[in-house]
Order: sequence, then structure tokens, then C-alpha cells
Amino acid sequence: MAVIKQDDVIQSVADALQYISYYHPVDFIQAVHEAYEREESPAARDAMAQILINSRMCATGHRPICQDTGIVTVFARVGMNVQWEGATMSLDDMINEGVRQAYNNPDNVLRASILADPAGKRTNTKDNTPAVIHYQVVPGDSIEFDVAAKGGGSENKSKMVMLNPSDSIVDWVLKTVPTMGAGWCPPGMLGIGIGGTAEKAAVLAKESLMDSIDIHELRARGPQNRVEELRLEIMDKVNALGIGAQGLGGLTTVLDIKIKDYPTHAASLPVCMIPNCAATRHAHFVLDGNGPAVLEAPPMDAYPDITWEVGTGVRRANMDTLTPEEVQTWKSGETVLLSGKMLTGRDAAHKRMVDMLNKGEELPVDLKGRFIYYVGPVDPVREEVVGPAGPTTATRMDKFTRPILEQTGLLGMIGKAERGPIAIDAIKDHKAVYLMAVGGAAYLVAQAIKKAEVVAFPELGMEAIYEFEVEDMPVTVAVDSTGESAHITGPAIWQKKIAESLAVEVK
Ligand code: SF4
Repeated sequence: MAVIKQDDVIQSVADALQYISYYHPVDFIQAVHEAYEREESPAARDAMAQILINSRMCATGHRPICQDTGIVTVFARVGMNVQWEGATMSLDDMINEGVRQAYNNPDNVLRASILADPAGKRTNTKDNTPAVIHYQVVPGDSIEFDVAAKGGGSENKSKMVMLNPSDSIVDWVLKTVPTMGAGWCPPGMLGIGIGGTAEKAAVLAKESLMDSIDIHELRARGPQNRVEELRLEIMDKVNALGIGAQGLGGLTTVLDIKIKDYPTHAASLPVCMIPNCAATRHAHFVLDGNGPAVLEAPPMDAYPDITWEVGTGVRRANMDTLTPEEVQTWKSGETVLLSGKMLTGRDAAHKRMVDMLNKGEELPVDLKGRFIYYVGPVDPVREEVVGPAGPTTATRMDKFTRPILEQTGLLGMIGKAERGPIAIDAIKDHKAVYLMAVGGAAYLVAQAIKKAEVVAFPELGMEAIYEFEVEDMPVTVAVDSTGESAHITGPAIWQKKIAESLAVEVK
């Protein structure tokens, strides 16, 4: 009979969260590398190169893969014969203490992103607690844990439907994935839960994402049941949509499709789909009374030795002297290396600024002629000026874009993923620009930031307005001043190319 100690649970959870903040699973690195090797779209290939370089840098620097270090999700399978020694806390409290210790680790501080009172004051809990915990009580005398840290950008793109039993799951997935845009930072995985009830399908979808990428093995041995057939069919058909890495158009959107199913009511076919992003983070360990879990670091030769070179003709821009006329010559899909000073701001800062503008109040920062970067950085450690600082999903700022452009004279925005029609129209009307940095390459992006200072709303923590001074920060023009969006043209071009090459194969 295993005797489990409270401190072993706390330490193991804390260690696992630190581990997954800087180590991708090896199967994920291999799958992105394979996709990178076969990718023909230059923009998607560049994005995957940045994701892979970032992954290696995080593994050596022990700093987070992404500035969004996630909401913690734990699946615990608790053996019925487990005994506890000197436990004073509930298992929930032990897990949350592990979360607290991991996110406040001074050697690798992680970003606290969890807000209490979600429909009200939305107050940061400051230590990323509480985790979302699922339990099963199973025969045995050990506890198995799956520990994950799920980014908000990809979690926000989760979809749920109650289909009619005769409806096609594949059709629903193919209709739904394009509506998810690029805010889930593809390439990644889709976790699909089928059956049970509405809430069961959602838990199954999330649990399916705890498995390793193994679609290649499935393809090699052939499907043996309906779920395996669905995995292959959905994988091929989603990739044929041409969405590509970061939604810029390309051959690989998904690296694997995971499905878990459960019996359901004769009248129902619940389906939930949850994407996992470029910052796929999960670890697995078993406590059997022999002390805390030990997770081996991936071998360094698991990381491909990739370099990312900007082409010779790449445009460089100094934001301190940039004019609107110059910005208007930038074309959708172009790469630009940005230097100079930019401001930052995301959801809470935008809401506050627009509220102030509506009341006729003066903003604490002058946005005229400036660029604003949608980011909530990780706090710095050691000699860093700022921690990992990749872009957040720009689509959430769409509703603020017109009033900000109209009333402040802002010149451009930097974020990740596509802009919706209301933002594109505002960008076009004001001849502004929207630039995109690679989501999931946050530590790499942070290397371009040479100075960082909070200039407004310090009480918002990671959502405060900073001024960054950057040098050669690589971005792609995602919406140019004429309103052309690389997230619309790119996937359309690649969907057509893939369809043509499939038609040739069939002939
Ligand atoms: S990779 Fe993208 S979706 Fe994933 S945590 Fe980072 S920003 Fe969020």
C-alpha cells in the first residue's frame, strides 16, 4: 500500500509546472520540425522556424515558451488504496499550493493570469491559482497526474455543439475551424470529445490533449475503429483548408487530431473541440510513495538546429521617425524589422482608455503617431529587461480600434492573429496598419526588447501600459493601410494550391 506525503504532491506539481513552462514535449518538437521541413509557404515556414528557435532557447534559458503561461489544468487518477501521511490539506489545496510555488519561483517567475470574480471585478489572484482539477477514483495504490498549462488564446477558441445523431462530425469540424481564426496559434492539435453529455464532451476534449502526438503511427498501421478513421479524415481535411502556421496560409494547420468518446443518449450527439496551441504544455507523473516525481529534461539533440535569417530585401523601420506616408507603402504579407519605441496595452488598458475617451478625459499617454503592442509580459528575472513578451490575440481589441484610431492618431498596432471586419474597416479608414508577431515565440521576441518601463496604469500588473524600446523586432504586415489582410489572402491561396495538388494526385 502506497503512503503519499502532502509535500510530495506539492513539490511534484510545482516542478511539473516549471518543467512545462520551458520544455515542449519532444513529440511536439518533432512534429513541428517535420511540418517545417515540408512547408512550402514562406510565411508559415518562417513562423515555425521562430517557434522552434524559441523552443530551444527556452530549454537552455529555463524561461517560458510563451508569455501566457496558462491556466493550470490537472487530471488526477487517485488509487483507491492510497494512504496519506500527515496530510493537513485537501488534495485540491495541495495542487494549488504547487501552482502557487511554481508561478512565484524567483528563478523562473511565470505570469499570473488568473482573475477571480470573472463576471465582476476580475481581480488577479497573483499566484495563478486556482487550478481546474478533474478527479477519477480508480483501483490501485498510486496517483497518476496529468498537469497542463493552457493558454487563453487557444482555450478561447473552444467550440461546442449538440449535433443531431445523423449529422456529420467532420462537416461540423470543417465548418467550424475557419471561424476560429488564428488566435489559437496554429500549428497545434485539436482535442475532440464526442458523446456523453455537454459537460462530458468538454472534459473528454481537454483530456484527449494530454496524449502524445502519434498520428504518424496511426497512419502507418491503419485505423481500426471509427474514432481512428475520424482522426485521419479530420487531420487531412483540416490541413487542406490551407490555414497554416499562425493563419498565414500553408500546408500544416494541425499536427494531430485527438479524440475521446463516451456513450451518449439516443437523441444526442454532443461534440466539443478544444485546440492546443504552439505552446503545447503538459507533463505526466505517478506518485507511489517513493518521493516526489522526477521529470527528465529532453535531450538537447531533440531540438533541431535551425537558424532564422531575414532576407536581404527586408524593410527596416524606426518607429521614432516613421511617417504615415511611409507606413502607407507597406504591403500585406511583407516582413518588417521594427526598431525604436513602442507602447504596450491589452484588454484592460484598452477598456480603460476608451472609457476615458468617452468621458472626454485626457489619456495618460499620447498615442499620436505611435505603435501599440498587444502584450502582457512575464516579469523579468536576473539581467532581463522584461520576461518573455509575445503578442496576444488582436481580435479582442477590435471593438476598441476605431475609437482609438479616430481620437488619438495612433499609427499602428502589433499583435497576433487576424483582425475582424470592424477593425479592418477602421484601419483602412485611418490609413493605419496592423502588424503580426509570432504567437508562441515569446522568449525569442523578448530578445529584441532592449528597455522596458511602465508608463501608465501600473495597478493593472501585466496589463499595464509599458514603453518598450526594441531593436529589429520581426513582424509581418497583416493588415495594410488599404485594408488587405494576410489572414484572408494567405489561407485562400494555400487552400487553392492544396486542392490543385490533391486533384493532380487523384489523376
Ligand atoms: S502560443 Fe498563442 S495561444 Fe498558446 S499560450 Fe501562447 S499566445 Fe496563447
